[in-house]
Order: sequence, then structure tokens, then C-alpha cells
Amino acid sequence: MAPSTPIETLLDTLARTLGRDGLIPASNIPTRHVSEPRGRYRGQPLALARPDSVEAVAATVSLCAAAGVAIVPQGGHTGLVGGAIAGPGELVLSLERMSRLRRLDPVDACMVVEAGCTLAGVRDAAAEAGLMYPISLASEGTATIGGTLATNAGGNLTIRYGNSREQVLGLEVVLADGRVWSDLDGLRKDNSGYDLKQLFVGSEGTLGIITAATLKLGPAPRQSVTAMLACADLVAGMALLGHLRAGLGECLSACEFMPRQALQFVLADQPNQRDPFDRPHPWYVLVQADSALPGSALQSATLAVLEQALDVRLCSDVILANSLAQVEQLWALREGISAAQKHGGVSLKHDISVPVASIPAFVEATLAALAAAVPGIRPCVFGHLGDGNLHFNLSQPVDLDGEAFRAMESTCNRIVFDQVRRYRGSIAAEHGIGQLRRDELLLGQPLKVELMGKVKQALDPDGLFNPGKVLSV
Ligand SMILES: Cc1cc2nc3c(=O)[nH]c(=O)nc-3n(C[C@H](O)[C@H](O)[C@H](O)COP(=O)(O)OP(=O)(O)OC[C@H]3O[C@@H](n4cnc5c(N)ncnc54)[C@H](O)[C@@H]3O)c2cc1C
Repeated sequence: MAPSTPIETLLDTLARTLGRDGLIPASNIPTRHVSEPRGRYRGQPLALARPDSVEAVAATVSLCAAAGVAIVPQGGHTGLVGGAIAGPGELVLSLERMSRLRRLDPVDACMVVEAGCTLAGVRDAAAEAGLMYPISLASEGTATIGGTLATNAGGNLTIRYGNSREQVLGLEVVLADGRVWSDLDGLRKDNSGYDLKQLFVGSEGTLGIITAATLKLGPAPRQSVTAMLACADLVAGMALLGHLRAGLGECLSACEFMPRQALQFVLADQPNQRDPFDRPHPWYVLVQADSALPGSALQSATLAVLEQALDVRLCSDVILANSLAQVEQLWALREGISAAQKHGGVSLKHDISVPVASIPAFVEATLAALAAAVPGIRPCVFGHLGDGNLHFNLSQPVDLDGEAFRAMESTCNRIVFDQVRRYRGSIAAEHGIGQLRRDELLLGQPLKVELMGKVKQALDPDGLFNPGKVLSV
């Protein structure tokens, strides 16, 4: 099939190859495949392909390559940077029908799963075997393994277990020429040449289509403690983090922070929740500690560490969750922030990171510059204290029209991203680049983008996969 082959011929061939449920014409594509969580972009795909095997993915890629039709891989479509949005004439290739657990090996502590498995499904399957897959996100019920690997998703437990990249032992990938590169053996040690799987992790669908992965599993926790701490400021928060690390060692699994403003938005959004403390505090830190050892020693060890923190005034109040329901309540306060921000009107969001020690200085300097540029701006900066990842979100001033605030987005972005660079941070900590941050990446790191272009040229010379995302090609 030459690139001049009529599109109708390609669609007919795909429909025959993929079967009745395998190809959905543009007019019937369910909304979830074209709209994304923040409603910023809307796709206009040629059609939706739903292959159910690696062979069917490979056949789709070969047919599209021959017809010169670009492919946008899609998982759960929970990405926040427009990465899985298809432009006119592009084919969305959803992995949703590739959701089999191929193998779980308790001796090697790994599992081989297809890309369309949801993250929650994988976590559940691991838990049933007494093991744990340690990536956990608020979107885990819908986000897929393919999507979390393609974006190198982080989440709440990164401080202890790292990002998705750290969990991968091998991949199966369909390449731009339709061949399949399979490396699913799950070896813990393999220095035979370049570590190619890591090229595909975080490539956001621009280098190949991940169809399966071998994932590393860890022991499931047998003891877990969750606490909410009240803090005066971020300087105290940093000292608190150091204290928790020293006292809890490798058991510290999560250390999340949020300001009073975030809690107020969540309380407005979740009528069943109430303020966890009897008086307001400037900052809150949510802490989780876990251990795979049997017994209950973790509870008393954590209590001692928290009492010391109170004694030396690193925090001013503590709530220790005493039931699973209370654990869920405390986490719902943290997980609900993004959705609750609608109560603050228009919100401009930035997913950035800075070196952990720089967090207080960065936040103070950036908020001062923003307040000078947009008087009354309401910051809602929250995130993962332990790994420097801040969701640097800004809600509109109470007395400013929402659209007028939205028109100030590029001014706010400039301030935030210039400060991020000043503090040697990243403009995209965990959500990726997609189309939202593509130009900003080029602006700040032209040499990196040039090298990435060479990798793209080597693996996808005709720009078949996800054109215009991450890179401009
Ligand atoms: C409520 C909420 C909370 C979130 N919390 C977090 C968080 O804590 N941490 C975090 O990192 N992210 C978070 N995210 C962002 C998002 O959930 C993650 O980026 C997730 O990894 C995306 O997975 P997905 O299956 O939905 O991928 P999609 O959105 O479908 O795709 C994302 C990107 O990956 C590519 N892609 C998808 N599947 C494949 C594949 N099989 N092969 C190759 N490329 C592929 C797509 O082309 C696209 O570029 C959150 C999102 C929401 C809505």
C-alpha cells in the first residue's frame, strides 16, 4: 500500500485485519478516546483501532506505515499534557483490549502483563499473590501499565520506590517498521549492550508501542501507619522530612504536603469530610510508613518519632489514623485536591520539581513574583515533599474574572518556569511533555531536544508515532 493509497482502502483493510470490535469509525468513537481529563484538548482521529494481540498491533503499524497514516498510542487516556490526543487524519491505537496477565512468578518476584492492564488491576493481582507493585496514583483505576510506563509515572510512593522506570525489568514493543522487539525475560542483571527498554519508558508513545512489560514486584506491607501533621511553614516541613527519614528509615513510604488553601478547596468539594484538626494550620503533611515485617513494632516506632517532632516543634499537631476508614479519609483529602480546585474558579497548573532542599526558597521566591504580577492570586501548591515534585497550581484572584485570569497564563508560566530553571529544577516532573510543554522544553533545553531528535530519527524516521508530541516532528 503506497502513501497515496486512499484512506478508505486502509480503513477497509484494518477492519478486516482487526475484526468486528477492532476498528471503530470516527463517527462512533466513544468520548473518552477524544476528550482528556482537563478538557484542554479534543482529538479528531481518523478512526480508533483496538487490536487485541501484539500481532494485531504489528499488523496495524505495518498497514499505517505503508499508507503514511500516523498512529497515536492510547492507554486509559488519563494523561494531563495532551499526549494521547490524535490530530486530524491520525489513527488512535488503544491498548484497552490487551489486558491479560501473562505470568506472575513469585520466585522471581515479577509479573508479565499486557499494556492495557489498569494500574489498579496490576496492584490487585500482585497483592493477591502477597506481593506489591509500588506505583500508586489517584488515576490508577483507569491509567494503564502502557501509559504509566510511556510517561514514567511517579505518584505517592516515589520517595521510597522510585518512578515507573525503576519497576521495569523488560518490555515488548512494536517498532515503527512493524517488527516486534521482545525483552520480557525479566533478568535482574543484564549488561549485554544498551538498556533499550529505558528509551521507551518516558517516550510518551513517540518511539514505539509498548504492548507488554515485565514488572518488578516487592513484598507486600504487613504493617502500615498513616498520620497527618500540622506544620507552620515549609522550612519546618523540610526539617520534619529529615526527622522522619532519620527516624523511620526505609519504612517512610510517602510524605505529601498541602497548604491550608488546598484543604479548604477539598472540604468544599467533599461534604462528607471535616477539618482533621480543631483549628486551622498553614501547612499539612501526610505521612505513610510501611513495613513488610510481621508484628506491630512500626506503630510504636512511628509514635515515638512523631512525639519527638512535636517536642522540638517541627509540627504543632498530629493525627494518627486508627482505622482503615480514617486512613482512606486522610488520603482522600490529599488525592482530592486537583478535582476540588474547581471551587477556586480557573486554575493554572504546573507539574514541576526542584531539588528537595530548595523547596522553601523556590516556593517563596516564585509566589512573591506571582503576587507582584497578579495581585490576589491564590496559590495552591501541594505535592510530594520527599521527591521535590510540586503541583504548582494557581487559582484566580477572588475579584478577577476567570477568563481574564486565563489570559494571564503565559505571564504566570514564564514566572514559574524561569524560577524552576533558576533553581535547577524540571518543568515536567511526572506528567510528561506531550503537546502542552513541548515548546517550553525546547526553549530551556535545546541540546537535549536535538539529541532526542536523533533518537527519534533512528527509531521512527518517518514520524509515524505520535507526531508533534514531545518533539515537533
Ligand atoms: C486524577 C489524576 C491523578 C494523576 N496522578 C498522577 C500522579 O500522581 N503521577 C503521575 O505521574 N501522573 C499522574 N496522573 C497523570 C496520568 O494518570 C499518568 O500520566 C498515567 O501514566 C497515564 O496513563 P494512561 O494509561 O492514562 O495513558 P494515556 O493518557 O492514554 O497516554 C499517556 C501518554 O502515553 C502514551 N501511551 C499510552 N499507552 C502507550 C503504550 N502502550 N505504548 C506507548 N505509548 C503509550 C500516549 O501516547 C500518551 O503520550 C494523574 C492523572 C489524573 C487524571
